[in-house]
Amino acid sequence: NIMRQKVIFGNWKMNGTNAELVTFLKKVDKAAKKSDVVAGLGLPFTLLSKGIEKAKNVKVAAQNVHFAEKGAFTGEVSISMLQEVGVQYVIIGHSERREMFAETDETVNKKATALLAAGITPIICCGETLETKEAKKTVTFVNAQIKKAYKGISAEDALKTIIAYEPIWAIGTGKTATSEDAEKVCEAIRKNLTKIYDEKTAQQITIQYGGSVNPSNIAELMSQPNIDGALVGGASLKADDFIALINYKK
Ligand code: PEP
Repeated sequence: NIMRQKVIFGNWKMNGTNAELVTFLKKVDKAAKKSDVVAGLGLPFTLLSKGIEKAKNVKVAAQNVHFAEKGAFTGEVSISMLQEVGVQYVIIGHSERREMFAETDETVNKKATALLAAGITPIICCGETLETKEAKKTVTFVNAQIKKAYKGISAEDALKTIIAYEPIWAIGTGKTATSEDAEKVCEAIRKNLTKIYDEKTAQQITIQYGGSVNPSNIAELMSQPNIDGALVGGASLKADDFIALINYKK
């Protein structure tokens, strides 16, 4: 059995000032140095430079990117622009972007492909609506998202990706999936990766759970065999909460 590194990323969404980030990182960066998980933070574009300057032990992720090299895409940011400021991770296909900003499985695939070509780690989000869950179609739906996201991506490149399974009904709602339900879906995702690639590749890919993760439920979620980390929105905004999350084992 391969021991996968635990990876806990915060997602600040459209929150935070540079001053708040500096204060946050003063506390969190020290804690991250002593933590045995990989800690990271998804930041708005305006905070990326400061984050990279101040974070020595916290990885910095962008929350979106465009797949094209450059051109007439008003309001968008390219991969090379992110590389210029030192970004090494990008969250793609977050349900908020799928629901509000026309992100699709196809654009997620284009973004993943372009990021991997540039040597940046995509954090590929997937997850079902409440309607899909109630229709008992979660696994079918999520597996289709994953299959489309990885279309044309080699096993070697797939190893460089992270998956975040985030049931939409659990995001920002305070309703966490039970650890059993979250585990079931993450296990199904890994089985699907075995089908798409092979057992060895599937066993090495990090799968995070996201959806109302907080300091009191993280340990239980992280104890599941196919959950290798968390993507955390609300509870990543306060330094003390985020420190508790990355120290969940202590
Ligand atoms: C998220 O947006 O990735 C998320 C999981 O948010 P929250 O933790 O606030 O539910």
